[in-house]
Amino acid sequence: MILLISDLHLEEERPDITRAFLDFLTGRARSAQALYILGDFFEAWIGDDAMTPYQRSICEALRTLSETGTQIFLMHGNRDFLLGQAFCKAAGCTLIKDPCVVDFYGEPVLLMHGDSLCTRDEAYMRLRRILRNPVTLWVLRHLPLSTRHKLARKLRSESRAQTRMKANDIVDVTAEEVPRIMAQFGVRTLIHGHTHRPAIHKLQIGEQAARRIVLGDWDHQGWVLQVDEQGMQLMPFDFAPA
Ligand code: MN
Repeated sequence: MILLISDLHLEEERPDITRAFLDFLTGRARSAQALYILGDFFEAWIGDDAMTPYQRSICEALRTLSETGTQIFLMHGNRDFLLGQAFCKAAGCTLIKDPCVVDFYGEPVLLMHGDSLCTRDEAYMRLRRILRNPVTLWVLRHLPLSTRHKLARKLRSESRAQTRMKANDIVDVTAEEVPRIMAQFGVRTLIHGHTHRPAIHKLQIGEQAARRIVLGDWDHQGWVLQVDEQGMQLMPFDFAPA
């Protein structure tokens, strides 16, 4: 059995989500052969060299799961794209590219965070190209900590202000972009997060039936996609009472 989650937006200020995730790691995730985390795992990440005690405790919880035999795969989101190899090594995770094709029980499946599908948001797409450029990444990782903190705060408040202003359809995926990228990678299943609109969309790509599965964000409830020989099941679950 394989489990996929995304958009937990873990931060110290949300002990409810943190608790739910730690329970998930010692519960359901133990029986999975693999766990995929498709981005925005952390609400913010300014570098592996700046881990807070809180982030370190999450890192150790992941490592404990990996040591029990569950393989953990981690993809960057738009908030935690500075997560690096040092974190992954310490957490026992493997960093995977966005997009990437995996084999789930004989079926090729395309995994993405999802932000790159929101192509109508041109301002964001421009910013994304700049931020994800290897040169920018190198510079960001080598800025003094205080500068990185300032930058992260600025990006977050700008992103909040803009999301409020943007039309509803701009922050969702571009409908035409979905069949295009699925055809490019030769898949009939796409799984992504980012939009916080959990759903299973049935599609038609040429003559073939296809599907786009959107993982949900963890806020007042959690979301997990379970994949096994029987198929794929997208399930919400309640957080245990504090
Ligand atoms: Mn996102």
